[in-house]
Amino acid sequence: MDVLSSLADLRAARLSLNGTVGLVPTMGYLHEGHLSLVSRAKAENQHVIVTIFVNPTQFGANEDLSKYPRDLERDLSLLRPLGVDLVWTPTAEVMYPPGYQTWVEVEALTSPLEGAMRPGHFRGVTTVVAKLFNATQPTKAYFGQKDAQQAAVIRRMAVDLNFPLEVIICPTTREADGLAMSSRNKYLSESERKGATVLFRALSAAKALYEGGERDAEKLRRKMKEVLVSEPLAQMQYVSCADYDSLQELDAVTGKALLSMAVYFGKTRLIDNFVLG
Ligand code: AMP
Repeated sequence: MDVLSSLADLRAARLSLNGTVGLVPTMGYLHEGHLSLVSRAKAENQHVIVTIFVNPTQFGANEDLSKYPRDLERDLSLLRPLGVDLVWTPTAEVMYPPGYQTWVEVEALTSPLEGAMRPGHFRGVTTVVAKLFNATQPTKAYFGQKDAQQAAVIRRMAVDLNFPLEVIICPTTREADGLAMSSRNKYLSESERKGATVLFRALSAAKALYEGGERDAEKLRRKMKEVLVSEPLAQMQYVSCADYDSLQELDAVTGKALLSMAVYFGKTRLIDNFVLG
């Protein structure tokens, strides 16, 4: 497994890979969720590239960039047994050299939900992912459903900018009690960690209503809120029942829909979602 940080080294190594290449972009501090993407990439491609880069441009001024968890040696030891060919760990200077002024923006899809709560976040995400696509030239690129809006935005960008690759969205990996795996779970205290199952419980309760025939989106949102307020350590930021493709809030669920939410536990912000239909 080659571990490289310069762009020149990455390009040279990429040129030596013949056949299909699966790309898994990450910010590191890897968990089973990331590794499930790597395993899928390995199963579907002749070669796998993993990138580890905590992308400063997708963090807001008051977000957790400086304390985002990092442990490169641990990440590499998790990747080695999976048969990864190449790990690229560019520095911020490699990705954003002095004088940098070029940005990729997806419009309407980035307005609601995470885009509304985290201004500029998706501009950072799409810019860095476009640069990772250019640098690694993958056949297929793997992203998690855990970040549902990010997945939708990247799929749109890949189509709109004619990237010659397939975007593959992989299911959310969860802890035994339903909590979606996330590098940010590490921030949770013991009591917050216990309470954090409330996201899964709220989504499950709304899904159960839906499966019982409920199609009023407001009732599904209300059910999620009702469960969230039952957890004293949880502070809801938003709940949503939106059209799966446009991400616009629904009145009635008629086709595929996305239930999603963002919830604070102290300073830790967790997101999760379920797809309906
Ligand atoms: P991150 O390192 O948080 O930027 O995540 C890198 C990739 O892993 C993104 O495509 C995420 O959506 C995906 N991912 C993160 N957590 C999970 C999870 N629990 N299950 C599946 N994919 C995930």
